[in-house]
Formats: sequence, structure tokens, C-alpha cells
Amino acid sequence: MALTFDQRDGVIWYDGKLIPWADAKLHVLSHGLHYASAVFEGERAYGGDIFKCTQHSERLIRSGKVLDFDIPYSAAEIDAAKRLVLKTNGQTDAYVRPIAWRGSEMMGVSGQQNKIHLAIATWEWPSYFDPAERLKGIRLALADYRRPDPKTAPVLAKAAGLYMICTISKHKAEREGYADAMMLDWQGRVAECTGANIFFVQDGKLHTPIADCFLDGISRQTVVELAKRRGIDIAERRIMPDELSGMSECFITGTAAEVTPVSEIAQWRFKPGKITEQLMADYTAEVQPKGKAAAA
Ligand code: PMP
Repeated sequence: MALTFDQRDGVIWYDGKLIPWADAKLHVLSHGLHYASAVFEGERAYGGDIFKCTQHSERLIRSGKVLDFDIPYSAAEIDAAKRLVLKTNGQTDAYVRPIAWRGSEMMGVSGQQNKIHLAIATWEWPSYFDPAERLKGIRLALADYRRPDPKTAPVLAKAAGLYMICTISKHKAEREGYADAMMLDWQGRVAECTGANIFFVQDGKLHTPIADCFLDGISRQTVVELAKRRGIDIAERRIMPDELSGMSECFITGTAAEVTPVSEIAQWRFKPGKITEQLMADYTAEVQPKGKAAAA
């Protein structure tokens, strides 16, 4: 059995204090567990620097507000806490996971008096970047579930509850031999994957769905910016699945996925090519700690 996530060495920052990893527990009667009143972040540190650290802290605070709670720490305090955990755990290339949730003071749909907790864990997670291997591309299934209507769910928050359909979809895809699943949105348009955004190339131009009913990923925004810097045209637009037969390249973006080429989605086929390769390289350069990129 691989090292489980509740029994590891190191520390976790829990409500303002660093505590031993195995002690970072919560009670079974926690609002966050029963009613999914929890928001989180997924970040990566490269060479000891957390990429877009403050943007992630700000998104965490915003996600909390969408769920009607205020995280009792500022973005600067959360930034400092994340760096402290990383440093204390002696990690440089790591995943950073802050999570905020409602506690145990109340048990019911209403959670007005619940204390808001915040914990931050980090674990070693180097980015194994072998471009040749990656350029083979991953295979995606088409998910049965769709990203919900913004009138149905708090779609722009990185909220735990939104991941229920992602886990179900990813499990089904994995059972069928795929790496992940692409999800459509509530209107049947291409949306994103279960933990990453999606891009396509058609006639030398990038196309990506408008992020108005799913997370506008920080990596997605980074790739849009990198493409603009390269002078690659980019269209953020509604994309219907039947258009995919006209797309030549496809890749997904996310903190975990970085830029990962896609070779197939259900019946559609893609050939990772020049634009994907360029943006993979640009993304790798962009995430390097500032000041060290030139030496790398
Ligand atoms: N969509 C979903 C559903 C995700 O979980 C993630 C990962 N946080 C993303 C998109 C990409 O977001 P980011 O680039 O900020 O990691």
C-alpha cells in the first residue's frame, strides 16, 4: 500500500499553527464533510517558489465568499503560511493544498455559526517533464455528467461539492482505460476535464471554451497569456463537440496537468504538434522561480 495521506512525516498548518502531519484531524460531525461547505486550492512549488502563490490565495478567499463564508486570514497571511509549511517540510518541488471548511458548531443545512477552519498541507511532487513522452498525448473519454448551469451551482468557486461529478466521471473513464474525461457544459458545449481546462488548435489558431460555467484555471490564464506573447491567435468561444473533427491538436492545462497533450477524445483524434509543443516549453519556462529561469 502506498503511503496514505493521513500518515506521513512533516507538518500541516492548521488554524494558525504547525502541527505534526498525523494530528491534523477533524471531527466526523463537521459541516464541511456533510454539506460540502469546503473550498480548496491546488498549487505547485517549483524550485521552492509557489507559482502564482497570491493568485491562488485570492481565489481561495473568493471561493469561500461564494459559499457564504469568510476565511479568517488575508491572502498575505495565507501566502506566508503556505511558504512556512513548504520550508518546514523541506520541500522545493511540491504540491500545495490549502483547504477551508465549516466546523462542528452546527449540524444542519444552515451553518451560520460554524467556525471556518483553514489547513495547508504540502507534499513532494516533482514535475516529471519528458516532452517526448508527453507528446504522445493522453486519451480522454466523454463524461456522462455535464458542468452545471451557473444558476444551479456555484460554478466559479473551487468548491469541494463540484468535484462529486468529476470523481464519478474520472472513475468511469479510468475503468474504460482512459486517463480522464472531457465534460460538456449544461448546454452540451465543450467545457473542460475533471481537473483541468482544455484547448484545441485549428488552422494555427487556439480555441478554448469561455470559462463562464467552470473554473477559469490559473494555468489556463497563463497559457492564454503565453500564446498572446507568441502572437498565436486565440479564440475564447463556444465550441460544440461536433466541431472537434476539425481540430488538429488538443491539450489540457492545470496546476497538476501543466500542459498535457491529448491524442484522443472518444471518437475524435488529435496529433500533438508545434503549437502544443511550444506552449509546453513556454509553460515550463514560465513556472521556473524568477531569477533562476535564465540559468535553467
Ligand atoms: N478545472 C477544474 C475542475 C480543476 O479542478 C482545475 C484544477 N484546479 C482546473 C480546471 C485548472 O485550474 P488551475 O489551472 O488553476 O489549476
